[in-house]
Amino acid sequence: MRSSANSPCRRESGVTYSTGHDLMCGEWNMCAMTVRAVIFDLDGTLYNKSGLAWRLALSQGLRGNLRLLKREREVRKRLKGVDFGDEARFREAFFGAFGNPRAQEWYDGQYMPDMVRILRGHYRIAPWVEPRVRQLRAAGVKVAVFSDYGCVAGKLEAIGFDPAWADLIADAPSLGGLKPSKASFERLCGRLQVSPGECLMVGDRDDTDGEGARAAGMLFELLKS
Ligand SMILES: [Mg+2]
Repeated sequence: MRSSANSPCRRESGVTYSTGHDLMCGEWNMCAMTVRAVIFDLDGTLYNKSGLAWRLALSQGLRGNLRLLKREREVRKRLKGVDFGDEARFREAFFGAFGNPRAQEWYDGQYMPDMVRILRGHYRIAPWVEPRVRQLRAAGVKVAVFSDYGCVAGKLEAIGFDPAWADLIADAPSLGGLKPSKASFERLCGRLQVSPGECLMVGDRDDTDGEGARAAGMLFELLKS
């Protein structure tokens, strides 16, 4: 990532980005803001998730849990962007919406572990990720991973991303609401100890990563895989 010391855009700490830089090749042309933290979405951003949905469906079908999986996707759509204030209230609403007493046991005990196992077996971080993260951190920029799902550290390890590369790993439920909840993005900034205006969110979905980032006042980079 280009951030030469003699660049007119260089600040004392952080990296100056443009709104049009290419994160993967490190190119950018315009000075727009100084970024002190880069927040990466996980699924579809740090790795190509092609085939993941059907692999998850197959795994849950073999366990006889397709109905729970279908319900989970419906519940996610219904709660998308809604702030519940904290993790406990989010989980109460999330599992309550299933209308199935097995939901929490299934989600925590089977679905999430199955997702980690599938990632470990079939997916790896994109080639640009490790060098880009190292360059950001060397430039004094904080790095965070922010996912709409839990088990973020386990999923990162499974795809070859060392959790130690990140200053912060967080999931939206632990912050009180799924993306694009503005409050979750703001709480994430609080944990990173940066203001939203100093953050660049990088994600593969404009309706979740982008909408939440913009609502909170962050710069957003849509990553097209
Ligand atoms: Mg994603």
